[in-house]
Amino acid sequence: MVFDHPEFQNHQKVVFCSDSESGLRAIIAIHSTVCGPALGGCRMWPYESEDAALEDVLRLSRGMSYKNAMTGLSLGGGKAVIIGDAKTQKTKPLLRAFGRAVNALGGIYYTAEDVGMSSQDMDTIATQTRYVVGRKSGLAASGDLSLFTAIGVFAGIKEAARYRLGSSDLNGKTVAVQGLGHVGWKLCEHLHEAGASLIVSDIDKKKTEKAVQKFNATAVDPDKIVFAEADVLAPCALGAVFNSENVKNLKTKVIAGSANNQLDDAKVGDMLTSLGILYAPDYVINAGGVINVSGEMHGDYDAEQSKQRCEAIADTLRDVFVAAEKWKIAPSAAADKIAESRLQARCKDE
Ligand code: NAD
Repeated sequence: MVFDHPEFQNHQKVVFCSDSESGLRAIIAIHSTVCGPALGGCRMWPYESEDAALEDVLRLSRGMSYKNAMTGLSLGGGKAVIIGDAKTQKTKPLLRAFGRAVNALGGIYYTAEDVGMSSQDMDTIATQTRYVVGRKSGLAASGDLSLFTAIGVFAGIKEAARYRLGSSDLNGKTVAVQGLGHVGWKLCEHLHEAGASLIVSDIDKKKTEKAVQKFNATAVDPDKIVFAEADVLAPCALGAVFNSENVKNLKTKVIAGSANNQLDDAKVGDMLTSLGILYAPDYVINAGGVINVSGEMHGDYDAEQSKQRCEAIADTLRDVFVAAEKWKIAPSAAADKIAESRLQARCKDE
């Protein structure tokens, strides 16, 4: 079942966890610990089937290995999924049972928040294990990670603008932001402060109206935002934003935003390059959250240091852009190649 799964790629460990009293059914996948203990969030989602949950956790945990390898921090990749509806089935006993499952792994996996989980939930999990970050309280708690994701995305946008548009100065540039949630909203604050003109859209009309007022932004319909005429397009909503059909009609020069898995498949990255659109690989530019929570792992969290590390995402992106040009491949492919070579290099060191 697991070894033959199409998403299985030499994962180091895949653990099925259950607890009859609380109803916990979870899968923890550790893709790689060659760079260090695996760090990756726990997602609670009402998966249609056990197989859908397995597919998600295998794919996401591998993505975390790549993301963490690119941060330069000594971290491996892992992820956990809890099968269930976070609105109705997330109880303290269930979270505590999950905490015990994480603890039983002895520190090769650190959990954190993801879809369906909050920093308060991490506090509950922390009653059972110390292998949890992204906590709301406690001495080393790092607080709202989206603040740091937005700092990294903003730094990445400036670097992409410098590389593709000739200047990192966003004053007078137009940026289209898709999704005005935790990250998108904070990103708009940075962009507005930098003097960018904003085009915004959210399926929640109230958020869009608020952004129009607060940032003097222009609102467009959710189905039009990716086609907005803008210097930079920042997808900050859901994944699979770009496919081989819609990329032909884009009117931007740079794509740089926080959303995970923005490209429908790898060849879309090649298409963007041939269209002259510079794409900032999602897992590189959106690593601010993971960089921030990693500061909690050793109990010495420092917000200022976290901020500086998030801003250094600009340097990593520049390396990716330069490598892509040198190797004559898309930045998305270049990022994968760099991440894979880092993982392989660490494997050889072992
Ligand atoms: P969020 O749920 O707070 O915000 C997402 C927003 O997108 C919501 O306001 C939602 O209404 C809107 N939206 C959904 N579909 C839309 C559409 N088709 N058009 C326009 N708006 C739409 O999520 P978030 O925490 O801000 O994360 C945004 C993205 O960034 C996600 O893909 C997430 O996986 C990724 N990400 C987030 C973090 C973080 O620190 N929160 C870290 C890394 C990656």
